[in-house]
Amino acid sequence: MKMRILNKLFLATLALLAAPMAVAQSWSIAIHGGAGVIERAKLTPERDAQYRAALAKALDAGAKVLSSGGSSLDAVEAVAKIMEDDPLFNAGRGAAIGADGKVTLDAAIMDGTTLKAGAVAGLSTTRHPLSAARKVMEKTRHVFLIGDGADVFAREQGLEQVPNSFFLTARRWAILEEELRDQKLPIPPRPAGLTDDPPKDVRAQSAEARFGTIGIVARDQAGAIVAGTSTGGLTGKRWGRVGDVPVIGAGTYAEAGCAVSATGTGEYFIRLTLARRICEQAGKRGANLQRALDSVIKGDLTRLGGDGGVIAVNGRGDLAWSMNTEGMYRAQQKAGGAARVAIYADEK
Ligand code: ASP
Repeated sequence: MKMRILNKLFLATLALLAAPMAVAQSWSIAIHGGAGVIERAKLTPERDAQYRAALAKALDAGAKVLSSGGSSLDAVEAVAKIMEDDPLFNAGRGAAIGADGKVTLDAAIMDGTTLKAGAVAGLSTTRHPLSAARKVMEKTRHVFLIGDGADVFAREQGLEQVPNSFFLTARRWAILEEELRDQKLPIPPRPAGLTDDPPKDVRAQSAEARFGTIGIVARDQAGAIVAGTSTGGLTGKRWGRVGDVPVIGAGTYAEAGCAVSATGTGEYFIRLTLARRICEQAGKRGANLQRALDSVIKGDLTRLGGDGGVIAVNGRGDLAWSMNTEGMYRAQQKAGGAARVAIYADEK
């Protein structure tokens, strides 16, 4: 009898001790909106403020889902929808334009608990590519769908379809023209009706917007961690080029203790199987998360000549980011904490 009471007391004490930790770590989320040469001197105060506001808004949508007990999968998709619709980012509307004057979109999502994953590449009519990737994961026995077939599948799943011109913006068109001139490639006729102001200084904008892929990692209150990434790839891309984003283990990866979303020079990320490499180095439950990020980004990636950044979450909900570029549009928040938004590499 005495033993049982003592046991109960012991368990109650344990629960009390564990409670504050469980609350502090109960959910967390980090997002990125691309990495690249983002120089303070070149980003006007207006653009700087625009990016920060866009990141804060997207982060908040994810935080709302998680704080009300929603799943990481729902949080990742909610953030992606907002960022895919925002022409500031290279995903969905406002994505980088290919050499043929068309936008083609890649995305992936992975659930660390189940190791289930879905990916799409070369979509040209599906408004929300990350939602299509989630449908691949949840509604098929496949992992990766490409091209027209992937759009057909997305339509069959009820996802909104739009004409390819929906994705085009004047800003990205100006950047495309500059890129094609640099590459000495023919410039396709400028489509009529492009909206948003063409940039005044295309060179500066081109650097600022060279990347702009979006990504999200989240841990929900049930402890599930998920990574998702969505992109238009590279400006002026040709030949059906696909980058790292939808390649599971390269730009997007999640396992029980670690979820990673990357942005940057995709070819290098594929060659390094970068996201998976990070999780491997992060160790069990992702205990060495920040060290793993820095070692792969500032070590392996830099040595190989690649550029970019990553965001990650581990099984306990710790968040980390790392980059070898001058900046990465990014934000993070944890249960009970304030939102942190940052652009430049040296921002704390
Ligand atoms: N990683 C993307 C790609 O190579 C581009 C980016 O992140 O900006 O398609």
